[in-house]
Amino acid sequence: MWVFVINEIKHERVLATDAARNDAMNLATAFEAHVRSTIRLMDIILLDMREDVLEHPDLRSHVNEELGAYGRFITQLAVIGKDGKLTFSNLGPTPKAVDLSDREHFRMHRDNPQADRLFISKPVLGRVSKQWTIQFTRPIHKDGQFAGVLVLSVPTSFFADYYQQINVGKDGTIALVGTDRSLRAIASGTSIPGRYGRFKVPEDKPYFDPNAPARGYYEGVSAIDGEYRLGAYRRLADDGVVVVVLLSPKDFMAAFDERRELLIASAGIISLLLAAVALLIFVLSNRYFQSTEKLRQAHDQLAQLANTDVLTGVSSRRSFLTGLEAELARARRHDESLSLLMLDIDHFKRVNDLYGHPIGDAVLKQFTATCASMLRAHDLFGRLGGEEFAIALPHTDPDGARSVAEKIRMAIEQAPLTTAAGNIEITVSIGVAQTQAGQHEIDQLIAWADKALYDAKHGGRNQVRVGRPEDEAEG
Ligand code: GH3
Ligand code: MG
Ligand code: MG
Repeated sequence: MWVFVINEIKHERVLATDAARNDAMNLATAFEAHVRSTIRLMDIILLDMREDVLEHPDLRSHVNEELGAYGRFITQLAVIGKDGKLTFSNLGPTPKAVDLSDREHFRMHRDNPQADRLFISKPVLGRVSKQWTIQFTRPIHKDGQFAGVLVLSVPTSFFADYYQQINVGKDGTIALVGTDRSLRAIASGTSIPGRYGRFKVPEDKPYFDPNAPARGYYEGVSAIDGEYRLGAYRRLADDGVVVVVLLSPKDFMAAFDERRELLIASAGIISLLLAAVALLIFVLSNRYFQSTEKLRQAHDQLAQLANTDVLTGVSSRRSFLTGLEAELARARRHDESLSLLMLDIDHFKRVNDLYGHPIGDAVLKQFTATCASMLRAHDLFGRLGGEEFAIALPHTDPDGARSVAEKIRMAIEQAPLTTAAGNIEITVSIGVAQTQAGQHEIDQLIAWADKALYDAKHGGRNQVRVGRPEDEAEG
């Protein structure tokens, strides 16, 4: 998820920067159009008025009337004589001998008498108007000779006010820069060091390079406040000015920064939630495993109960038969012999009859304990029902089985069982059956053992009989 968030942030940073570049260029295009139309308008007024200046008898009222028609933005229309002295201003009677021969716009036209072209000055503090103004000028010719300069003054605020209406961000800047590196007008969140007319834009800006394209982008540290800016410019080569729009990452990255913080915060919250869920799963699964462990123990106890005969503690009938099946399979795999003993207590009914059922139970318990003590760990001992028991002897041949059966028979016969009713003597009859390599089925084996037990009973009880397959074959 964090990889996604980081990629998304990178992607959005690129998008935000691209969008800012587009915005800067769009704004520059709009301002270029505005500057162009303003310059054209000024020139139209200049050309129009130049005709009248020399001939019109009542110049002042005529000029004021004409300028009124163009709007309020023109501060002054003035005429400078060919010697550089102010000869006319619509603002009022000319103070005597205002000398403007040092003004750049005057010298430019005087020194190029053949060139009838529009000149746009850098901002100057008007000697008559007392305002910071930009001068739009054209030379006046009389009889083919330089006869003076016609001046239209427009306050620097004319452009700046227009720029100010456009939102370029708190730290953005719109500037009209002369190719002479001085600012014509600027609207900026940051104030210009020194005064308009004195400020020089560093010459390393790409738009000062006459070979650079007429429009383009650039980025770098601003000469105004030393902060990083992204810029777009459009150059009006004929008029010697460049429109520059500078946008600050502080402004155009603000939305991106907000979104980035939101993304990081969301990812953080999701991470916390995931961690919480992981913790919950851990706790729950721990509990689950604990409870399944308890379940398993309960299950084991149940299985133990189901597999064990409650009275005697030996295997139940079902458990014994399952074990016998498994032993048969193993004998088959390992080519081993397996013997089965069937035991039935002789005349047990009499024990019950003589001493009562509880004493009979005690006898059964002692009987199984005696038998069990004679068996090996891997022998199986089960109660098939009542006073009938079975013993499976893995890898034991008929002779071995007979000797185990005989030992059990003798132990039961010789050791009287001690009960609350005194010593009780019992005997047991045992039938033995055997299979080599587990080649016979379980039912077959049980049937032979049963048959041998039957023979032992009928042979007089308290004896061991070994059943043989041949007996079965003989019928
Ligand atoms: P034999 O086997 O020698 O032919 O005679 P028997 O008297 O042992 O034979 P029988 O199968 O007729 O009797 C078995 C008796 O075992 C019947 C029953 O009362 C008794 N018995 C069976 N299960 C239990 C038990 O769990 N507890 C007690 N006390 N007696 C039981
Ligand atoms: Mg019986
Ligand atoms: Mg019996």
